[in-house]
Amino acid sequence: MGGCQSYSGAAESDGAHTYANTHAINLNDVSLLNLKNNNWQAPLCGDKKPYLRPECVSERITQSSTELFTFSALPHGLDLNEWMATNTISFFQLVTLISSALSELCTSTSCPTASGPGDRVYFWKDESGRKLKCSAPLYTDYALSYIQELLSDEDVFPVRADADFPAGFIFLVQKVFLLMFRTLAHLYSAHYTQLVAMEMHPHLNTVFTHLVLFCQSFQLLEPQEIEPLQDLITALTHS
Ligand SMILES: [Zn+2]
Repeated sequence: MGGCQSYSGAAESDGAHTYANTHAINLNDVSLLNLKNNNWQAPLCGDKKPYLRPECVSERITQSSTELFTFSALPHGLDLNEWMATNTISFFQLVTLISSALSELCTSTSCPTASGPGDRVYFWKDESGRKLKCSAPLYTDYALSYIQELLSDEDVFPVRADADFPAGFIFLVQKVFLLMFRTLAHLYSAHYTQLVAMEMHPHLNTVFTHLVLFCQSFQLLEPQEIEPLQDLITALTHS
């Protein structure tokens, strides 16, 4: 796998052109946050996990995690691979949408390392298996381009009714969900305050909760991968 092709929502940003510059606002401005959302208060000094604050956790488009869990279950009579393929495409569209909205704020200057929560660093593996340390926007570009390429490959995601899914399809699906999880994990760890200012955190919480419940239903993610966000997952699925 590789990543020279940019996914459709990728930013051509070098850090000089940011959302804040374009709109002449400071997204870290406390008064702006209070204006946009009366329930939100600026993170306290040392508040490393603003996404865990109760007023944030409760913000979702769909309030019920039970409902999202039900949505994840394989419908009776439907082929498992078909269900995996359909959901992979849907989640990719949603993750791309959220990621694109942040593309001008997540730059090689703001995020020189592809970081996740708990001081995780995500390395990209190139086609020869070499681990590359790269910026967060580059990692996101690699990840979403890789997924888009995979979804366009009819040998992997067949479109004809009489075509079969390839052997090992589930392993590719696992890899796609790992990359989507990491894309969202970076947003939580590095851009949550900006997402609140844009009032996008209910969307992120909903997509993330659904994605995690779907992955749990079909064992698509390793426990050690989700561990740094386990506190958030517990809060989202029990609220
Ligand atoms: Zn970033």
